[in-house]
Amino acid sequence: MSNKFKVPKNPAEVMAWINSVPMYKQDQPLDLSFKSKDEIRAAQDANLVKQIQRLEKFSPFYRTKFKEWGLDARTIKTVDDLEKIPTTSKEDYMKDRGESFKLDMDFDNIMEYILYEITYTTGTTTGLPTRFYNTTYDMFMQSWMFRTGCKIGYLEPTDHVMNLFPFHFIPHIGYYKTQHFAAATGMTLSYGFTGAQLPGFPYNIHRPMQQAIEDIEQKKVTVLCGIGSYIRRLIMVAEEQGRDFSHIEKVQALGEAVPKGMRDDMRKRLQKLGAKEVYISNAFGFTESQTAFQECQELGGAHQGVPQMYYFEVVDEKGKRKPDGEAGLLCITHLDRRGTCLLRYLVGDIVAITDKQCPHCGRNDQRIVTTVGSTYGTRTKELMKVKGTLINPEIMRDAVANTSGVIEYQFVVAKENKDDPYSMDVIRLLVGADKGVDQGKLEIELKDKVKKAVELTPRVEFVQLSEIFNPGATLKATRIVDQRPQG
Ligand SMILES: [Zn+2]
Repeated sequence: MSNKFKVPKNPAEVMAWINSVPMYKQDQPLDLSFKSKDEIRAAQDANLVKQIQRLEKFSPFYRTKFKEWGLDARTIKTVDDLEKIPTTSKEDYMKDRGESFKLDMDFDNIMEYILYEITYTTGTTTGLPTRFYNTTYDMFMQSWMFRTGCKIGYLEPTDHVMNLFPFHFIPHIGYYKTQHFAAATGMTLSYGFTGAQLPGFPYNIHRPMQQAIEDIEQKKVTVLCGIGSYIRRLIMVAEEQGRDFSHIEKVQALGEAVPKGMRDDMRKRLQKLGAKEVYISNAFGFTESQTAFQECQELGGAHQGVPQMYYFEVVDEKGKRKPDGEAGLLCITHLDRRGTCLLRYLVGDIVAITDKQCPHCGRNDQRIVTTVGSTYGTRTKELMKVKGTLINPEIMRDAVANTSGVIEYQFVVAKENKDDPYSMDVIRLLVGADKGVDQGKLEIELKDKVKKAVELTPRVEFVQLSEIFNPGATLKATRIVDQRPQG
């Protein structure tokens, strides 16, 4: 099993690899991504028609909107008709924490509609996370999707995955979908079970990174799966300790952009620990897709995998489509869902997509491709991503601004090690406090407030007011400074 994996380099090698894994070979006749463009389009159109009818009947949000827009659901026959429909923003979705996007129960298809799982978006715009519902049908469909996704990213049933996503007090997709994809393909799964303490919870349930390192070595884990910069930090600690990581063949470095330099750096370090060829995937994911779209080759593009489930568009602010390969706002439509359903939903990323056949693997599904540099998406400016979590800076500011004892403050988002652009993100909260205030108490209060607001704990530092606010130099205090290397 160990060290035999070689990354397929072209469509013929990809097909040979698929045929070498009995389950994937058996799945192949139903894998839509390998069918012709016409077959894919026909399946998408057919699913869209049914999905629109479902929304009209069962979606509290869209049935109201269809009336407001004067939209006759019967006029939507193909994915090209989507352009007639206004886009849905993140603000729309988050307004009532996602409730009005969950379909009502269809009593004629009750088994499909049984509520099975809720995950939450990372970060918030309202200070409270937004729910994303999966029904039985969605979970079954996702099982197929994960098998197909693992096939794209060369994860094998014989692999042993270490789930390095934190067990967080809010259920995010990272931790839970890693369980699901491993289960759906029959992989062995181990857990780091790291994470942040639930405020006020008396028991320390989490394990330290060090335990994960020991387990990876002892259990001969072959796949690391987690937030990119966290995995890299773990590898660096293992390197200092001279661990044997020779069995690692694949890394799913997710949750944030992992550019080429960072992948090469991780690979080199793993090779120092004995690894041979290591495939480092930066699959592109977000809660509203319930998955991370897999790469068939490092930087080869993020494949849809199951085109019967999603339609991607890249649009301008008015919802007008951009040509193939041009950067714009990523807009996704669910084509076959029962729980939370989104139509022409603006994810909040700027990306480019292509409909062209993938030269690396021969699949015909849509792919998110890199336009500049070596990452897929850049965030639209009102939201920022810190430690893999999408946050609304406004909420972070609100949490601190209304705290007594705080005169002025500044958040600084930076890299843990300023000489290492791939090190983990840290949030420092610089505080100019009232004289005589109990700094110890204030620090606890601020950490708690920020954590509740954006799910991240800042490092609180008390500073002189002049360090963060110089009225002579700037008219307004700068409340958020992002010192991370851009691009
Ligand atoms: Zn491909």
